[in-house]
Amino acid sequence: MAVKNVVQAGNEILRNKSSLVDLNQLPDIQSLIDDMIETMEAAKLVGLAAPQIGENLRIFVAKDVRSRDEKNKPDVNILTFINPEIVSASKETVVDYEGCGSVANGNFFGQVKRSSEVIAMALDREGKKFEIPSGGLLARIILHENDHIEGILFTDKIEDWEKIMSREEYLKMREG
Ligand SMILES: [Zn+2]
Repeated sequence: MAVKNVVQAGNEILRNKSSLVDLNQLPDIQSLIDDMIETMEAAKLVGLAAPQIGENLRIFVAKDVRSRDEKNKPDVNILTFINPEIVSASKETVVDYEGCGSVANGNFFGQVKRSSEVIAMALDREGKKFEIPSGGLLARIILHENDHIEGILFTDKIEDWEKIMSREEYLKMREG
């Protein structure tokens, strides 16, 4: 297990469409998943996709934050999504700030409009299929990470560039 460098915007790995994981690969990707989790924790992120540590595979990890308060809990459960699919995404949307470990190392935040409720389906790291309904921050994380495996960055979706923020100002706003 190892903390990896997070691949930064401009690297074409982040722009490739990632490949489906073959179920026979499951034993081989366990250490990749461990590296993703360790890297996510080390970089203080709430989600991380495989391309962000250099593997164009359809895998992402996310903290199971059912509310924003859980975001900084050390023991929050971590979900692994292999070959994820967005089963449904609400027409209702919400605009909120996002950052990304691959964009200015997560020190840059911008507003992105996303579906407020999402149902995702994926395989867990044992290869067992699961379905997870989500709203709030978790829905946002799932959609953001799912974009990564399609080669999309959140900066592609920022509509209002006048409202971008540094991490410092973003935290001031959240805590203020
Ligand atoms: Zn990201």
